[in-house]
Amino acid sequence: MVVDRITQLLDGIESRRDDMIQLTVDLLGIPTVNPPGEGYLAICEFLKARLQPHGFEVLLLRATGAVGDSDRYPRWNLIARHEGRHTGDCVHFNSHTDVVAVGDGWTVDPFAGQIKEGRIYGRGACDMKGGLASSIIAAEAFIETFPDYAGAIEISGTADEETGGFGGVAWLAEQGYFDPSRVQHVIIPEPLNKDRICLGHRGVWWAEIETYGHIAHGSMPFLGDCAVRHMGAVMNEFENTLYPALSERRTEHPVVPDGARHSTMNLNSVHGGLDEAEADYTGMPSALVPDRCRLVIDRRFLLEESLDDVRSEVHSVLERVGETRESFRYDVRELFSVLPTVTDKSAPVVTAVASAIEAELGQAPDYVLSPGTYDQKHIDRIGRLSNCIAYGPGILDLAHQPDEYVGIQDMLDATKVMARTLTRLLTDDPSGGATSE
Ligand SMILES: [Zn+2]
Repeated sequence: MVVDRITQLLDGIESRRDDMIQLTVDLLGIPTVNPPGEGYLAICEFLKARLQPHGFEVLLLRATGAVGDSDRYPRWNLIARHEGRHTGDCVHFNSHTDVVAVGDGWTVDPFAGQIKEGRIYGRGACDMKGGLASSIIAAEAFIETFPDYAGAIEISGTADEETGGFGGVAWLAEQGYFDPSRVQHVIIPEPLNKDRICLGHRGVWWAEIETYGHIAHGSMPFLGDCAVRHMGAVMNEFENTLYPALSERRTEHPVVPDGARHSTMNLNSVHGGLDEAEADYTGMPSALVPDRCRLVIDRRFLLEESLDDVRSEVHSVLERVGETRESFRYDVRELFSVLPTVTDKSAPVVTAVASAIEAELGQAPDYVLSPGTYDQKHIDRIGRLSNCIAYGPGILDLAHQPDEYVGIQDMLDATKVMARTLTRLLTDDPSGGATSE
């Protein structure tokens, strides 16, 4: 009876509770900090040793030549595939293995996987080693309960998501690993919370603006032309016209948190004049009028906006500044852009996870979009696979923060949702795992 097997599946996950915790702690203990991108081979080898005995065929793939790959910091990726007994769809769980820098403010060891009050602490606990561990436990429990399933399950551990994913999912997609002929459903266990399905994300435009001036002695600035003052005028125009316009725009899509339903722009960094002094330099700066100033902007845009509009809006700010400032000269260099993406609510992976959430948590899911991009962009654009979502345990707001953690009960619940999703997509269970009684 299918119903009995659902109960068996859920019991199987409960009985793996300690294993799930230890797996998460072990993953946290491999400090895969990016940049620069440490420990990728170590974590891939760890995952290989874990998955191979469970019947997965494992590939370790180095993204040779990709942005970020070097002999010192090679970009290693893992794809593990388990074949069912019959032909059918492939469900792929994609997790990035990299974590961001530790930063200040921690009260626990960021790599020790300390457990306190039902939470596992560590850099990457929620973003996203907890999600990776959940997907592994879900797959292992599912395979044990439904050894006769149809199709295939893949688990990937990929590099560099935190720095754009070029040596990770983008590279794998270029090699055809996310081609719709071999993978039909993709779940990315990013920390969006156990009751939410993330359908996509806003767009990104990163650009560097440079203003130019004329170098001179700082005691006679009238003989020079100060590039920093020109940039100040640009930032002033942003404050007066662009920021008010952005905050008035609001998307119809359910982007979270609420502030991200508006268009936003972060001033990532600004630099003009002398280089930052070396840490051991104790002298004074020299008296110079700066002849260059650079500002990096990080513009996040809505599904309702076009990339062309986003670009031309910034260009018109610069043109307006030029009308009031003699000798104003500038360049704009585009660094990076990603179009917004959203998966249809009726896509099969969405309806499968939605019904699994309802069965497990007794409530309909919330549908959300992410404020920032994640690897879905590459799966969608390079892999041409649009049946892709993010679903995983953990609280998004904790990502990249000190004392990052993932809740153990949240992980168990999300693991059960993932396993029920596999039941729905890879077995002929008519209930889709809807009944656990
Ligand atoms: Zn992440």
